[in-house]
Order: sequence, then structure tokens, then C-alpha cells
Amino acid sequence: MSTTAAREIRAPRGTEKTCATWQAEAAMRMLMNNLDPQVAERPEDLVVYGGRGKAARSWEAFDAIVATLKRMKADETLLVQSGKPVGVVTTHEDAPRVLIANSNLGILQGTYETFAEAGVLNFKENAGNEAGSLVGKLCVTGGCGGMGGAQPLSVTLNGGTCLIADVDLTRLQRRLDDNYLDELADGIDASIDRAVQAAKNKEAVSIGVEANAVDLLARMIERDITPDVLTDQTSAHDALVGYVPTGVTFEEARVLRESDPDEYVRRSMDTMEQHVRHMVTLQKRGAVTFDYGNNLRQRALDNGYEDAFAFPGFVPAYIRPQFCLGRGPFRWVALSGDPKDIYVTDYELLKMFPAEAGAPGSYNARLHRWILGCHANPDALLAGDFENCAPRFAFQGLPSRICWIGLGERDKAGVMFNWLVRDGKVSAPIVIGRDHLDCGSVASPNRETEAMKDGTDAVSDWPLLNAMVNVASGASWVSFHHGGGVGIGFSQHAGQVVVADGTDKAEARVRRVLTNDPMMGVFRHVDAGYEEAEGCMRDQDVDIPMR
Ligand code: NAD
Repeated sequence: MSTTAAREIRAPRGTEKTCATWQAEAAMRMLMNNLDPQVAERPEDLVVYGGRGKAARSWEAFDAIVATLKRMKADETLLVQSGKPVGVVTTHEDAPRVLIANSNLGILQGTYETFAEAGVLNFKENAGNEAGSLVGKLCVTGGCGGMGGAQPLSVTLNGGTCLIADVDLTRLQRRLDDNYLDELADGIDASIDRAVQAAKNKEAVSIGVEANAVDLLARMIERDITPDVLTDQTSAHDALVGYVPTGVTFEEARVLRESDPDEYVRRSMDTMEQHVRHMVTLQKRGAVTFDYGNNLRQRALDNGYEDAFAFPGFVPAYIRPQFCLGRGPFRWVALSGDPKDIYVTDYELLKMFPAEAGAPGSYNARLHRWILGCHANPDALLAGDFENCAPRFAFQGLPSRICWIGLGERDKAGVMFNWLVRDGKVSAPIVIGRDHLDCGSVASPNRETEAMKDGTDAVSDWPLLNAMVNVASGASWVSFHHGGGVGIGFSQHAGQVVVADGTDKAEARVRRVLTNDPMMGVFRHVDAGYEEAEGCMRDQDVDIPMR
């Protein structure tokens, strides 16, 4: 097979597998799906997102992983070390088919949940508002890339107005094409005028502007305009390959990065310091301000700005209460490639978790608004008329869905998906995974585990235990990584994926994995002294020895 940069990868679709097991087939298709041009940021360089996060170490490594998955027997497990396949061992049929460790040197729906919670906690006047908790609110942010591109849609799904800056016009254009972003404004002032007016009119609309985020904030300060909500998702975790300093165009930045990397990093750090200073100024003027997991505050602190941590990270501010209940980003993919399979799972999920089971604004009601918000024709979904369902925004790569559900819910949903496969209601197996940003799988002191009650922010025994629990429970593949989201030195985290292929064995694995994995979040937060987690422990009969 060719190993040149011009290759275009797309996962096979359909019900025929080329590997011995659906678990290995799923691993292969998901690896390929990561490099689908609809999904990856720079597929030619194997880069999926985050500036330099790669699907495999090299094209040779990619080919070797695929070839190995195809030849592996049902009781074998492949080991992948930082994107390179390094060995195959004989295990057993319930063991993971792949084990992964990345970079261990010494995220749309999570965004929706974060903005929803920001609205619920800060804007009481929107309580119970069917259109969302951000109606009439101006939300300003930067970075419209792989993850950051979810922000405009997440704000509008919650009823708000979003103004987003990116230095790279192609990133904004891509989100415009995908219907994640609604409009492009011509210049900073025009974008501010449009956004302020739209918020006044209570328009759920997102406006992109080609600009450095720092320049946008500087101008807002000058014009004395304060957003209601302020955050940022430029790739600040990487001062060289991610973040772009002010004073240079995007193209000039690219040239400077190559010709004088030290000077580039110096300018980048200065801009990040300025960026955080502006955010703190706007916070003091009344903007609800939070760090969106890119380590921007740490960079500003490193550059000498002592007040850099004046605003909180998004996890302690809006996500931790959900982590205490084992809630987090549950997601699944239809290996058939047929969007109808996802509509079927959507329909069954809404039946399984009825909106009326909770008060307006409850987690179930939020789940319904989210799933229905993903559909261009929600009435067809509610009627179970799958032929007439259509996505509101295009699927990227294999059809997939994500939603936040918790301990006691994820296993039910997973087993139900397995039954849908078994009964032929969906046409091929379903792959179930989650984000690394989850309740019990991460040690990341500037993000998921920032400001833990008991000071255990940096204890990475938890993600290690999480990985081991998932191995023991029979996940289809398990990974352990270093550096996700906030950069090397700032996080360690574990991931798991389990395949529902309709068999009884898969049902047992799905039930175990999707119970034990979120339970790690309850263990972790009970141990750290969170009352919400204690409540969940009692409600769900979670076995914690010293309680
Ligand atoms: P990305 O590299 O795909 O996109 C970053 C975007 O920021 C690019 O489009 C780039 O042009 C733009 N940019 C860089 N500097 C800029 C500046 N000064 N002004 C305006 N635009 C600028 O990265 P991504 O995948 O979107 O992730 C963004 C950040 O969020 C990363 O630091 C990542 O680690 C972090 N992250 C957070 C979460 C989370 O859950 N909160 C999840 C994943 C990633």
C-alpha cells in the first residue's frame, strides 16, 4: 500500500466484516474514520485535532495497525504505543482487542452541556425557558477548530447569540459549510455590531469573524461592550504549533514558526498573557468568564501574570456536579454507515429517558432538547418515521451521536443498543465509547480535576485504575494517554470503547463496562468528599468499603 501523503481514508460501511471479530473490525473502522477528511483536521499528516494529535505515528504504522487487526484471532490483543503497533498477545475473548498508551513521558456535546449549565447557573431569568438557558445572552469566544468549532452551535442550541473569532478563515468557512456556524461578519467592528443587535433581538445565531481573539476582546473593551458569557478555545495548550500571536497574519505566523520558533513562542506567550488580562478585565465588568480547557491561564501565569487564575475552569464551574452522578459524554457510532441506525437509537433513547420524568430544565429535558436539536425534522423522529428523518447538521464520517447520561443509565442504553443489533432493528454493530473528559478517567489539575475538594487534583492513580477496571470488565479497546487537551505535563487520562454486536457475550461486556466505567466517577468524587456523589452512592447502591 502507498505511504504517500496524498492518501484519502474513509472507513468501510455495511454489515460485512473483514476482521475475525466485530471488536477488531470496529477498531479498524474507527481508526479509519478518524482520518476521514470530514472528521480529521489535517488527514494528510494523520492529524485528527488539537494541532498535532495523530491517529497513528506514521502512515507505515497506520498500515501495520490495519493489517494486524485484519489478521488477529478472536482471542488476541494488539498493543499500540504512541501510535505504533508494538506487539500482539494471546488473551481471551472477553479481553480488549487493543490496548493503547500515548505520550506518557515523565470533544460538540460536552460543549452544549457546558453552555447549558452556564446559562442555568447564571441567568435565573431563563429558568424553565423552553428555548434554552442562554436566550438574549451574548457569548463571546475564540478558536473555531476541531473542538472549538462546536461552540457556536452549542450556544445557539441553548438559545443564545455567539460571536467567535478565529485567525484562520478556512476554519470558520468549514464550520459555516457544516451548519455549525451561521454567518461571517466583515471585520471586528461589524461583527460586534451584529452580535450586540442579535442578542438584543434574542436571536439564536452565531457570527464568525476572521480575527485574533485578543484583538476582538481589546476592541470590545475599548467600545465598552461586555459580553454576558466569555470563554476561549484557541489552541493555547501549544504555544508553537497551536496558538497564533497578535500582530502577524495567519500566513506570516506560519512563516515565523518555521524560521524562528523561539521568537514565535515568545510572542505567543505575550499574546496569551494579554488575552487573559482582557478576559479578567471583562470579567470585572460583569462577564461570566471561564477557561475552556486549553490551559490559557497557565500560559499567562507562566508569562508573569499573577492574577491569571482569577476566573475558574469550566469543570469546577459547570461540569463537576454532573461528574458526581457518573454523568459524562456517552457516545456511539453506527458501523453500517447508515444514518437511519442512529435515528433508531435516538428514538429508543428518548423513549427510555422520557422528558416528563424530570422538571423543566432537568437532565432528561435537556437530553430531549439536545437529541431533537440534532434533527432537521424532529416530528419525524418523534413519530418513529425514520425514512423522513434528516440531520440538522451533517454527520462527519460514520454516523454517530453523543449525549450525557450517568451511572445506571449508560449500561441500560448500551444493552438496549445491543438488542437493536440482535433484533436487526439496526443493520450492523454499534460502537460505544466516551470522551476522555469524563467523571472518573482523568487527572488534569487545570481542567477536569481542577480545585478538587480534597486537593487530589494531580493524583493519576484514578485514570490508571479506570483503565484497569475497563480491561477487567471486557472493553473492546482501552487506552491510556498523557497530555490531552491541556498539553504534555498537565494531564493523564484513560479511554474505553465497547462494541455491541448483538451477541449475548457483547451484552455481558457492555453491561459490565458501562456500569463500572461511570462508577469510577462516583468512587472518585465520594473519596474527594462531594455530597452529590454520596447521594448517588446511596441511590444506586454503589459499594464503597470505607463508607
Ligand atoms: P485546533 O487546533 O483544531 O483549533 C484551534 C483554533 O484556534 C484554530 O482554528 C486556530 O486558527 C485558532 N487560533 C489559534 N490562535 C488563535 C488566536 N490567538 N486567536 C484566534 N484564533 C486562534 O484545536 P481544537 O481541537 O479546537 O482545541 C482547542 C483547544 O481546546 C485546545 O487547546 C484543546 O486542547 C482544548 N480542548 C478542550 C476540550 C474541552 O473539553 N474543553 C476538549 C478538547 C480540546
